[in-house]
Parts: sequence; structure tokens; C-alpha cells
Amino acid sequence: MRLRGTRLACILLCAGLLCVACAVPVSGEKAADSAILLIGDGMGPLQIHLARKASGGEPLAMERTPFSGTLTTHSADSDVTDSAAAGTALATGRKTNNGMVGVAPDGRHLETILERARAAGRSTGIITTDALHGATPASFAAHVESRGEREKIAAQIAASGVDVMLGFWKGWFLPKSAGGEREDGRDLVAEMRGAGYEVVFTGDELRQAKGNRIVGLFEDDTGPTPAEMVSAALARLGKNPKGFFLVVEEARIDWECHDHKLEAAIERVGLLDAAVVTALDFARDDGSTLVVVTADHETGGLTPEGKFTTGGHTDTPVRVLAFGPRAQRFTGQIDNTDVPRRIAEVVGLGSFPE
Ligand SMILES: [Zn+2]
Repeated sequence: MRLRGTRLACILLCAGLLCVACAVPVSGEKAADSAILLIGDGMGPLQIHLARKASGGEPLAMERTPFSGTLTTHSADSDVTDSAAAGTALATGRKTNNGMVGVAPDGRHLETILERARAAGRSTGIITTDALHGATPASFAAHVESRGEREKIAAQIAASGVDVMLGFWKGWFLPKSAGGEREDGRDLVAEMRGAGYEVVFTGDELRQAKGNRIVGLFEDDTGPTPAEMVSAALARLGKNPKGFFLVVEEARIDWECHDHKLEAAIERVGLLDAAVVTALDFARDDGSTLVVVTADHETGGLTPEGKFTTGGHTDTPVRVLAFGPRAQRFTGQIDNTDVPRRIAEVVGLGSFPE
């Protein structure tokens, strides 16, 4: 009996020490192996609020995460950011000017959190409902002075080495001779196949694909949903024992808010939320994956009554919601540049940015 008592005391003491270890972040020691960053383009706090109201007042899955905070989103040259500068802040931890992708205002190449993860042997993925060369996804794997340099961005994305890349439209990946947009004659689809990627063009092809390294260039009527894309990515990235970094963008909340189409915007928030459910299910099973949901900026100056007050973006701070190891690092009033810094800290990617 006495032995049992001693053992019990030992177990309780050890459990107590473990609890202390969980509660106190130790610098340089990782708490998670993997991170999933989900971005609602244009998803301000009222876009979330009105989506919740539209679904009968039940909190969205993203709102049921245990920790939340608020992000400022200004760029280096404007209170009101665009998606390129905001994507660059979320990817590199540095501010840049509107329109610039993965570079500083002086044009200097900035390392992205995805590149840092890849260099550390983690698997990587980019998912978007925009084109892969769109400003937000491009910010994680490309470096150009203007978001309009689509030909250059698509070539950089194709050569990025990212394991899973799923987005829409193949135009900038194909030469004009093959019905694409490229002036330089390069066939990036053939180049990516040559580099070992399985390239798919429909949701059906994605479901049947077997390869671990995969590129999707979908069309609107036959493409997969964000949740299907996240599920396909996690089935592959989750195999790496060293972990992974996955960024997911629902781009079209922004597009619908520019057009003042509230119902369509809310539907898009719902599609992102379904992808959040897929990410959270994985993270709950896995136990060592951090999930962060945020936005690059608010679009439309939406009011609580559901009225839009501008056709552009605003500087309204956006929400950040987090689940998983050390998710409490994403609370309070922080800046968009803090997001990759804190992800790097939680998943043990060293001091980021350098
Ligand atoms: Zn926009």
C-alpha cells in the first residue's frame, strides 16, 4: 500500500511538472510539429458576425476555437492594405508596400515561413480558391515587386518545391500555343510533371490522385471545395514525421464584398468554415498541429446591419482565432506581422524573421 502511495505521489508530481512545462513557453523549444494557417480574404469581424447570424446564431467552427485576438493590418505605405502587402506580412513577418509580393519596400527578397518550414524538412502546401499566382498564395512562395507580374509569379510557384499546390485556372501555367497566357512559351504544367508532380484539373481527378506531390489547376464548375482541398492536402502532408506548414486562402469573400454581395460573401465564409472543421478534426486527432484562422484585411466597410460602405478595403482590425499547442500566443491586440513570428516560435522554426 505504501509503495502504491509513493507511486501515486510520484505520478501526481510528474503530472504537475508536465503541467508547468505546458503552461510556460520555453524559448527555442517547439510545442507543435505542424501549422495550418487559414486566411479569409476580406473577412472582417462583421463578415464573421453576419455569417453566424445567417446560420441561426450558432458560433462558426472558427469561433469555437479556444483563443482569439485582433490583428492590425496596415501596410508599409498605407493604413489600408491590399492582399499583396497583407499576404507578405502574414508570410514573412515584415511590412511591405501595397502591390509587392514577398519583397521589402526596397525590393529585397524576404524569406517566408513556408520556405523556412521547407528548409527545416517539413512538408509544405498552398491552397487557394484564387489562382496560385494570386497575391495571397503568391506571398508565401514568390518574390516580385508587383502582384501584376503573373507570368513571373507562376514560374516561381512552379519551381518552389512546395509539395501540395491547389488553386484555380491554368492560364498562366501554359504557353499561348497551348491556349494559355504565357508569352515566354514555357509549359509549366509539363515542367512540373517532369519534376515529379501529379497535375490535376478537376475535383474528381484530385479525389483519384495517388501522388504525394500534387498540383491542382481547377475550373469553377468542376473544382473541389476548400474543405476537399484541405482534406487532400492533409492526407499527404500529414505523412511527414517532421511535420508540415499549410496555408489555405478562401479568396472570394473579398470578391463578393467588393461587389457588395452579402449573401454570396456569407456563403464563402461558410465554405472557409467547413475547411476549418477539416483542419480542426485533423489537429484534434494529431495533437501536435497548430491551427490559426485569420484574414488579410476587411473588404467593403460592412456594418452590423449588413450594409457596405465602400467598394474597397478598410483598415478595420481583423480577428485571429487559434487552436492547438500554445494557441494562447494568438490573443490580445497583435499585428499581422506577429502571425508568422509566433507560428515559427510554436513549431520550432527558430527566430523568424531573421
Ligand atoms: Zn480586395
